[in-house]
Amino acid sequence: MIRIDGKKVSTDLKNELKTQVGELRAKVNCVPGLTVIIVGEDPASQVYVRNKAKSCKETGMNSTVIELPAETSQDELLERIDALNNDPDVHGILVQQPLPSHIEEYAVTMAIDPSKDVDGFHPENVGQMVLGNLDKCFISCTPYGILELLKRYEIETKGKHCVVVGRSNIVGKPMANLMLQKLRETNCTVTVCHSATRNMEELTRQADILVAAIGRANFITKDMVKPGAVVIDVGINRIDDASRKSGYRLVGDVDFDEVSPISSAITPVPGGVGPMTIAMLLHNTLQSFMRAHNL
Ligand code: NDP
Repeated sequence: MIRIDGKKVSTDLKNELKTQVGELRAKVNCVPGLTVIIVGEDPASQVYVRNKAKSCKETGMNSTVIELPAETSQDELLERIDALNNDPDVHGILVQQPLPSHIEEYAVTMAIDPSKDVDGFHPENVGQMVLGNLDKCFISCTPYGILELLKRYEIETKGKHCVVVGRSNIVGKPMANLMLQKLRETNCTVTVCHSATRNMEELTRQADILVAAIGRANFITKDMVKPGAVVIDVGINRIDDASRKSGYRLVGDVDFDEVSPISSAITPVPGGVGPMTIAMLLHNTLQSFMRAHNL
């Protein structure tokens, strides 16, 4: 069984990005810039935003965090976004979710210039991705990170049956769409499962590649997995653990202890898909910079 080390791959990727940023600085005398907006004081979001800013700086890119109070109106937020859309030093704009309930996520997604939408959530980017025009869009960071893991671990995908459990707009749907495309690291036959799927175990047991993006701790058990399958666990779930100082620990959607011995390769949680998401965000920011400078 191969334990797919997302921490290591993401570190390699960030080092590669750092080299590229250094070369760009020498060539065009400027570097990519990512601006993250956070509205309100959700502690988990604050941690995510801090990590994004830290990784950004490590690669030599410019990083700005705009912290807005929870009572910021939607119009104020949209004005901020508009200013960033028009700022040539900003190549990536990300608005951290979740947003306070008085702000409509869709309006925010639509307000971001698609050429700076490094999250890949704007319908223009989603549409180009579905059409397979991957050089004309930004791919949503979590599925993109999974493709990178499959590529770097040279996992054979052509003609394999990939079963994706979960159909969210940020993970399940883009993941399924990408696995369907005719790329070296995809080209699969794809099945998507969700909460209304009947006899789900029958489908997951057919998977050569099983992607779990559900949001339920240890949901995928041994009896749902074909021996020899490649298992990609996207889930990040907190469960109580009195032995930890924090009182909790993170687990995936896959019961790792049970499933890992029968899989051919598996991503752990933490240290699998999670670290790749930030690395791909930085990759997308660099790509945006290259496009803006016609490089
Ligand atoms: P969502 O809650 O948006 O989507 C969950 C999906 O799982 C839905 O499509 C839902 O079906 C499906 N689902 C829920 N319960 C069941 C069930 N009993 N049987 C079958 N399908 C079910 O979650 P996200 O996609 O945003 O995230 C999924 C997980 O991945 C979470 O744990 C999240 O924390 C994690 N995550 C990790 C990231 C990373 O960087 N590693 C990034 C993003 C998310 P239905 O549509 O029918 O409701």
